[in-house]
Amino acid sequence: MKFRTIRGTKDILPGDVEAWQHVEAVVRRVMQDFNYQEIRTPIFEQTGLFARSIGELTDIVSKEMYTFRDRSDESVTLRPEGTAAALRAYIQNNLGEQSSLVKIYYIGPMFRQERPQAGRLRQFHQFGAEALGADSPQLDVEMMLLPLEVYRNLGIEEFSLKINSVGCEICRPAYKEILQKELENVADRLSQESRGRIAQNPLRVLDSKDEGDRSATSHVPLMKDHLCPSCTSHFERVQQLLTALGLPFVVDGRLVRGLDYYTKTAFEVTSTALGSQDALAGGGRYDLLVEEIGGKPTPGVGFAAGMERLLMVMEKTASATQPLRVPDLYIVALDDASRRWAFVRGQELRRHGRCVEIDYLQRSIKAQMREANRQKASYVLVVGETELQSGSARLKNMADGSETTVTLASFDLPAIR
Ligand code: AMP
Repeated sequence: MKFRTIRGTKDILPGDVEAWQHVEAVVRRVMQDFNYQEIRTPIFEQTGLFARSIGELTDIVSKEMYTFRDRSDESVTLRPEGTAAALRAYIQNNLGEQSSLVKIYYIGPMFRQERPQAGRLRQFHQFGAEALGADSPQLDVEMMLLPLEVYRNLGIEEFSLKINSVGCEICRPAYKEILQKELENVADRLSQESRGRIAQNPLRVLDSKDEGDRSATSHVPLMKDHLCPSCTSHFERVQQLLTALGLPFVVDGRLVRGLDYYTKTAFEVTSTALGSQDALAGGGRYDLLVEEIGGKPTPGVGFAAGMERLLMVMEKTASATQPLRVPDLYIVALDDASRRWAFVRGQELRRHGRCVEIDYLQRSIKAQMREANRQKASYVLVVGETELQSGSARLKNMADGSETTVTLASFDLPAIR
């Protein structure tokens, strides 16, 4: 029987994983520059946490979660996103008591049972951050800067930033009613999915990708034009800060995003280097969410960015990747005594920070040389009976082919890196 990966999941193989490690290193560096600390939460949680925070009516909760009952008959769910778990951890561990503003980030796998296609997987990876404890518009903009700085550090220049304000508990209910009335008027022109959303989740109709929905709703009023004074001033300050930073952005009054918890700012970063799944990152403010899942009222803002899509853009635009680490030294050993010597000396050299490879397959000298070449080793040392007896051997510099004689007892490599 041949086993295969589950649909929508992928192996990240040697040769590909180096780009991942590079991206992860850049993410960590940028997060540290902004003084965010890493948090690692379990990949599964009580189902209720996600239902409550993301919203029962969202696609994620209603159609896409990997939910199952464990052997104790508890309903658990593989995390479909990072915010709910980070906030659960913030509340459970009283992180807010240690510091009035908590800035945390994460990198890890997420799970959604979506229809797999290019740029859409069932196990995918996100990096993201949350800032909890302040309602300053500066933090909203910091959340946009974080992924954009990661992209800039990876040599990706081509992206666009869309922002919107989705209002708050004061202004949204009144707008929702206005919108519902408008949508009722054009209901017969809407897709079945959008029609179904009018009653409970009318804002989502606005970011429907369906062309018919778009034209039927082209005239409807937008939330950004019905904001209360506090939301208006917050949104203006976000835009002023972006302008002060010289960051180009577009106000997209239809940007709603698929999670229910946003208040005030919502944003999305897209790339034309991607196909129909063009969103690289998204985020926004969620001032009611901590309280909604059982914490003290705490304003918060966050973002999440897809790693697979970022790597796709890097591949397409030939952006910076990390060179593979290759062996500094390959020891070619010709008999049992030399293989033992190579094994022990190799380990000592690794202790000194060298990457050392030896032959484990008792191959011929020719085959070992070929292997050293294939692995792009910087140096090759050839050791056999004669070398062990004389105490010296030839060290070959693979870059220029030059050879030197070295003393085995005190052997070390020339400075390579
Ligand atoms: P979301 O949590 O839905 O706001 O998504 C944030 C980012 O995660 C998106 O902009 C994508 O880059 C990425 N993402 C979301 N869903 C998937 C998926 N099914 N496969 C791959 N990447 C995804």
